[in-house]
Amino acid sequence: MIREDVLTRVECPVCGHRLMDKGDKATGLVQTKCGRCKRVWEVELETDKFKQVSGKPIARRKGDNDSP
Ligand SMILES: [Zn+2]
Repeated sequence: MIREDVLTRVECPVCGHRLMDKGDKATGLVQTKCGRCKRVWEVELETDKFKQVSGKPIARRKGDNDSP
């Protein structure tokens, strides 16, 4: 029998730096700081929702990939 610990990489939404690995059933809110761009994120583990707590505002590029 194989025990699988499913870990998902959680990456910084801005620079793609790995912030942490989360378990399959991880829930709740964590705060983590990106080691590359120094932004502080609040992450909802269940939904992968990112909220920026501090650091430079996210530069939004026009016509990036918001629209299909
Ligand atoms: Zn980053």
